[in-house]
Amino acid sequence: MSSNRPDIRPQLGLRRIINVSGTMTALGASIVVPEAVQMVDSILSEFVEINELHRRACATIAQATGAEAGCMTASCSAGISVSIAGCMTGADLARIEQLPDATGMKDEVLIQPGHMVYYGAPIEQAIRLTGAKVVTVGQATFARPYHLAAAVTERTAAAVYVISHHAVQYGQIELGEFCAICRARGVPVIVDAASEYDLRGFLAKGADLVAYSAHKFLGGPTAGIVAGRKDLVRAAFLQNYGIGRGMKVGKESIAGAIAALEAWGKRDHAAVRAREAGYLKLWMERLAKVPGLRPSIVPDPTDNPLDRLKLEVDQGESSTTAWALAAALARAEPPIIVRDHEVEHGHFFLDPCNLHPGEAEVVADQIASVAAAIRGKPSPDLADLRRRQYEALLAWPDRLP
Ligand SMILES: *Cc1c(COP(=O)(O)O)cnc(C)c1O
Repeated sequence: MSSNRPDIRPQLGLRRIINVSGTMTALGASIVVPEAVQMVDSILSEFVEINELHRRACATIAQATGAEAGCMTASCSAGISVSIAGCMTGADLARIEQLPDATGMKDEVLIQPGHMVYYGAPIEQAIRLTGAKVVTVGQATFARPYHLAAAVTERTAAAVYVISHHAVQYGQIELGEFCAICRARGVPVIVDAASEYDLRGFLAKGADLVAYSAHKFLGGPTAGIVAGRKDLVRAAFLQNYGIGRGMKVGKESIAGAIAALEAWGKRDHAAVRAREAGYLKLWMERLAKVPGLRPSIVPDPTDNPLDRLKLEVDQGESSTTAWALAAALARAEPPIIVRDHEVEHGHFFLDPCNLHPGEAEVVADQIASVAAAIRGKPSPDLADLRRRQYEALLAWPDRLP
């Protein structure tokens, strides 16, 4: 590694992985920006009146998003749960303490099946944690406005809309129309925009609440950000006195996320893009020369201002598979963790967003050398590979031999 930054990982017995997978919670999400690191460091040894810190966060979120109000939560997933709970209880502490028993409250939450994503846990569970029931709208690749209109009943508490590469990208109801249908029927719309750079557009299209992750593109500590209508944000905040207690966000995450949001407003986004474009160019040039690898540059599927390198593995020419190469890279030294959620299609992606200086070169070298090393070796069966990963998970904290 060319940089001399201090690295705590070996002291903890951790591998020095290089993340070209994206802002994955399972890999520690993102490189936290210096402003947030400084803030976390400064607040940890101080006492604070936590609701005053929340009030300060509310102002920062409102300013950054154009919303009436905002609230910090433990994570985006927690933000979805407390937002739904707030739609069920309003600002009523008796109801807040009653959940997840939803007796006497509206308890149906609408979602398109194409939006029933898995982000490390199923989004339906984040909804059901409140005591609400999930009601689907249309089918996985076919949801229409009439499905949504017909699904609304007097029990409907809220509707959830997901913007994500995890969601089905066609056959869904467009957000503006989704919000218009819900608004006409008095149903609040909660948008899961965990990984979306756009802090204003979803509210502008009519969403009542939008939930983001602080620890993804913003480069904050682990936290969630909920922005939107003041009455609903207040009701979501008040869940800290109910089901939100076990998902509470600490002072370091609230203050750190405030710093990350403020830093986002001042960030030189053009310079960041130029740096990422430089990595992509380097990878294109280097990997196009590796037999059997076909690199191309592809835009983000949900229109974030971000491109990635798509690496197609030609099984005939490379005599290996995309999943064998991805798995071998994860075992290599240093380990390279690629974006492999579509690996059965014969490709994976390299995400340029989370690299320390010098790492892009290491990634290119490592891919070239690992591809050469596994050339002609039999590729594992993808189902076997996945079964082993599953068995390894279930064996935790033990390690499989
Ligand atoms: C990452 C992600 C989440 C979960 O975010 P956390 O802040 O880690 O809870 C929820 N929804 C989508 C679409 C995501 O990508």
